[in-house]
Amino acid sequence: MQTVTILGATGSVGVSTLDVLRRHPQRFAVHALTANTNWQRLGAQCEEFQPKFAVLCQAEAAQALQRYLSAVGSATEVLCGMDGLCSVAADPEVDIVMAAIVGGAGLQPTLAAVGNGRKVLLANKESLVMSGHLFMSRVQREAVTLLPIDSEHNAIFQCLANGAQGHAQGVRKILLTGSGGPLLRESVASLASITPDQACAHPNWEMGRKISVDSASMMNKGLELIEACWLFSLAPEDVEVVIHPQSVVHSMVEYIDGSIIAQLGHPDMRTPIAHGLAWPERIESGVTRLDFSSQGDLRFEAPDLDRYPCLRLCQQVAGKSQNYAIALNAANEVAVAQFLDELIRFTDIPVIIESVLEQTSPTEAHTIETILALDAEARNRAIEVIARITH
Ligand code: NAD
Ligand code: MG
Repeated sequence: MQTVTILGATGSVGVSTLDVLRRHPQRFAVHALTANTNWQRLGAQCEEFQPKFAVLCQAEAAQALQRYLSAVGSATEVLCGMDGLCSVAADPEVDIVMAAIVGGAGLQPTLAAVGNGRKVLLANKESLVMSGHLFMSRVQREAVTLLPIDSEHNAIFQCLANGAQGHAQGVRKILLTGSGGPLLRESVASLASITPDQACAHPNWEMGRKISVDSASMMNKGLELIEACWLFSLAPEDVEVVIHPQSVVHSMVEYIDGSIIAQLGHPDMRTPIAHGLAWPERIESGVTRLDFSSQGDLRFEAPDLDRYPCLRLCQQVAGKSQNYAIALNAANEVAVAQFLDELIRFTDIPVIIESVLEQTSPTEAHTIETILALDAEARNRAIEVIARITH
């Protein structure tokens, strides 16, 4: 029996993870579940999975959850805040941590999970983008089994012989596929008036709203490019982004002899999640099987960087000083939150990021304190830029 902590249990990846765990009660037990503020959903999850701990980030929500769980006779203990998140991630009783908090908020708990030195399933790409060097050196120091959950990186991991991280011999290129999101065929002129709901209407994947906007702008693919470089020790020029609207090929590895190995499947996060949970074994995930007789065309094309300026910004930042990736991620998080609140336009997002990057200088960021300080600085800059463009 393996014990699992899910950081971000109430989100899209968290719920999919619980769905896979539910199918394997004899194999996995839930140690802890965490959420930001949604105590009602976390409460229902605790009733079903009976974890030892539940963590919420807000004190009133934590109190409400504790009252609820006591009333229904649950023994789950409720913790609160960043200390609670880090303690359930680093707990030596835990075998597997699923890092599925969205955004920079996941950095410290994900690093705490790496410090635990067991098995970390990484969905929270922002934490790796912000702290690449620190993150990967800790993974090595603690001899952590790091399994990528982002579907593309999970695919690349599967296509590299035996999951060899960065050491696969004879690799020429990584082909990182992306659907192009819901705005692939919109006219570039109309992008300024796209609403949050239009940006979040992803054709193939159901995801949280932040990553959905990132998919519409292809910032998500850009973050994934940076993520791939860290995970597989690649130079940015070794990774080619390919638009594949059907999201059936999840990514590919091209070898020097001309072979290209791809991983395919129905677009459903339960496949990479099940792969990560059971690796190196395979378990049932509940995912619909791919039926080639009814699948239809699989298409591929090059991304148009005029349509996706966020992708171009990520390509510029990849492989550069860590501070640029921190600033890019921070500015994007601030801008996307403001777009979702309908305070700025969709097309303002890359303008804000570019302006913050122009004010950023190369700085090494090898400690968590430095990373958090640089992140806070970039968020303040983004807020200043937004104040300028909206007044
Ligand atoms: P989501 O918005 O659906 O869920 C986010 C989770 O994080 C929730 O449980 C929420 O309570 C928690 N959370 C939010 N803010 C928090 C904070 N400040 N402190 C602590 N917890 C907080 O997001 P998601 O779509 O599940 O994505 C989660 C992560 O996985 C993201 O980094 C995303 O890029 C990555 N990812 C998601 C998918 C997908 O299909 N959804 C695919 C690949 C990668
Ligand atoms: Mg992805």
